Amino acid sequence: MDFIINDPAPVSRYIFAMRTMLCCVSTLLAIATAQTRQISDAEVQKVHKSALLIDTHNDITSRTVQGYDIGKAKNDGHTNLTALREGGVGAQFFAVYVAASYVNGNRSAWRTLEMIDTVRHDIIGRYPSDFVLATTTDDIERIHKQGKIAALMGIEGGHAIEDSLRLLRDYYELGIRYMTLTHSNTNSWGDSSGDMDKAGVQHHNGLTDFGKQVVREMNRLGMMVDISHVADKTFWDALETSSAPPFASHSSCRALSNVPRNMTDEMIVALAKKGGVVQVNFSCDFLSQKTADADKEVSAKIAAARAENNPALIEEYRKSIPRATLADVVAHIDHIVKIAGVNAAGIGSDFDGVSCTPEGLDDVAKFPNLTRALLEKGYSAEDIRKIYGGNFLRVMHATEAEAKRLRGTSAQP
Ligand SMILES: [Zn+2]
Repeated sequence: MDFIINDPAPVSRYIFAMRTMLCCVSTLLAIATAQTRQISDAEVQKVHKSALLIDTHNDITSRTVQGYDIGKAKNDGHTNLTALREGGVGAQFFAVYVAASYVNGNRSAWRTLEMIDTVRHDIIGRYPSDFVLATTTDDIERIHKQGKIAALMGIEGGHAIEDSLRLLRDYYELGIRYMTLTHSNTNSWGDSSGDMDKAGVQHHNGLTDFGKQVVREMNRLGMMVDISHVADKTFWDALETSSAPPFASHSSCRALSNVPRNMTDEMIVALAKKGGVVQVNFSCDFLSQKTADADKEVSAKIAAARAENNPALIEEYRKSIPRATLADVVAHIDHIVKIAGVNAAGIGSDFDGVSCTPEGLDDVAKFPNLTRALLEKGYSAEDIRKIYGGNFLRVMHATEAEAKRLRGTSAQP
């Protein structure tokens, strides 16, 4: 989730009329200019189908928890079952997103359980012939071979554990396999990139001793350490503390779009050295400096319109912001590959958690467009299979192996 909201989302935020505008023409133009070699549809399909596409961040759960039916073929957002099939998604991490507002009144654990339930009940339980709960790398591969979509869960926002390692262990038992250490809010044990410049927020200079204990317990359990959203110092502390490779479930490159949510080259290289992976986020402002700058310019106006609950006005302001493109997504993947190698890049779309998606990658059905663009850029089928899932599976497998080592002969968890 990178559309910052403090409570369950109003339906108005899902107005994506803009995404239908200009889509086809500009996508074709973008592809045409980037084209270096002719790729047939058959080749795109062949390579796309040969990959196990694992997207490590999707926020459709913020809608299903409110009653939205993921089986509906058409919607005004980015995700539904038909589109997931069309996009060839093999495994989907559903975000167990806990807004910062739930810290007030100690409702974070309550919200976490609600969000876990929406994945297990509204998605997997409702469509058992399409989604199967996965908690291990073996599960992902087995479910994929059966032609179903592996459904996984990651908690977004470390405040979900309400400072209790016992809750962390409970969440693992319920199927949570990664936790984003912070959301946009600094919690009581880790600094977030989202509020480092905010006065009145008590920061810790990265992770506190308890924060480091959380990371070590995640290692012992076999829960992946997700550094998306964290402040830079928290990233370095997590990298040093974690004995399994951490990863970024949905972050992009600061060298291409200078926003605090993105990672510096130094961070990307260090993460890769430890065996981690950067799962590229598709939010327009994280992908394109032009979008980020325009976004900054009108953000106060959009916030005011949101306070007035004026979706038409929000839409008008949004239309003035240039969208990112499929070529921008390729540029971020390319940047990671250039500085850290092809083993360091992956996909963490943030679909249904962002207000703007790139032209050509408008929703989950459009993943084959990315395959085409990567082939055109000169990526081999083998490279694409790594970026789409192989690299992430390596991180998840390393996390499982480290947990096994740390637990020794003791019974889990
Ligand atoms: Zn997020």
